[in-house]
Amino acid sequence: MKVRFMNLSVEENERKVLLGSIGKVLEHGILINGPELSEFEQKFANYCGRKYCVGVSSGTDALFFALKALGIGFEDEVITTSLSWIATANAIAVSGATPVFADIDDDLNLNPQSVERLITNKTKAIMPVHYAGRVCKIDEILQIAKKYNLFVIEDASQAVGAKRNGALSGSFGDLACFSMNPMKTLGACGEAGAILTNSLELNEKLQMLRYNGTINKETCIEFSLNGRMDTMQAAILLERLKTFEGVIEKRREIAAIYDEALKEIVETPIEASGEINSYYSYTIQTDKRDELKKYLEANDIETKIQHPILMPNQPAYNGWTRSEKLNAEKVVAKILCLPASEKLTQQEQGYVINKIVNFFE
Ligand SMILES: *Cc1c(COP(=O)(O)O)cnc(C)c1O
Repeated sequence: MKVRFMNLSVEENERKVLLGSIGKVLEHGILINGPELSEFEQKFANYCGRKYCVGVSSGTDALFFALKALGIGFEDEVITTSLSWIATANAIAVSGATPVFADIDDDLNLNPQSVERLITNKTKAIMPVHYAGRVCKIDEILQIAKKYNLFVIEDASQAVGAKRNGALSGSFGDLACFSMNPMKTLGACGEAGAILTNSLELNEKLQMLRYNGTINKETCIEFSLNGRMDTMQAAILLERLKTFEGVIEKRREIAAIYDEALKEIVETPIEASGEINSYYSYTIQTDKRDELKKYLEANDIETKIQHPILMPNQPAYNGWTRSEKLNAEKVVAKILCLPASEKLTQQEQGYVINKIVNFFE
């Protein structure tokens, strides 16, 4: 048996639905800023309990525009985590600000004490990532932000649908950013992203920023880039939002089966009471990570390390900025993401579990 980490091909029933909605877009011909975009923006904002959603062309753009909307740039510092996809740091760096990397706890999310230690008079914002589908310690982060008068921009790219104390990821910060690239839990069939806010002013600013800083389609009032979500991706996301709760449920079922089978032999993901993880990835931790990965590969099981290089250790960042990463260094050597998408079959999961159990025997 061969188990792929993830299979992005679209099965026949969904394919018909998506082709139908793409057909409608081709028919009306409003390929940018079409009615499906505003409908998706409204429905996604509602889903997350927010007033406004601005669709953009990627999660990276979402983060960049969010920083710009808050006026963050040169001479400013933004504190984020050490462990994330590099887009988080790049958005900060490209805005002109300096990313400062805080340490993580064993749950792979930001350590709030580390964040507080790294604050200086240049700090303007905290950008927490809800890593691997688990909302970070957002209450403590919000408290720190309030105490030091800082903005909070959530990078919720990996956690759409995840909850903490009943509130959805993306409902906490001044702004919340999502990636909807095909790998993400709510994915389009191409690049896409979104920003959420409750502020009318920020909503209007973001609309201006996502189209070259223009108002009324012509007058440029601020330097920016083009980063709009196209209508076809919005139409696809609208369809996928309808069935999204089912996707989360399925991923949670798969995670529960792994938990039960593996909790005695590796560290399985934490889900405290009051939390709903969305399991963007099912990330285990083990001291034998490299050997296990090789063994699974030899048995045709594809796994991934998300993300093997800490952001402050990337060549582009190394030696440039401040960081705390003592625990992150330990943890990043132990993490391994197992195949756990909603398309994983019972048979495939049984095979993966079997092989992991065999390895440790
Ligand atoms: C995927 C991801 C991004 C970037 O999203 P893109 O749509 O690929 O640009 C940013 N942050 C995190 C945490 C991500 O996982």
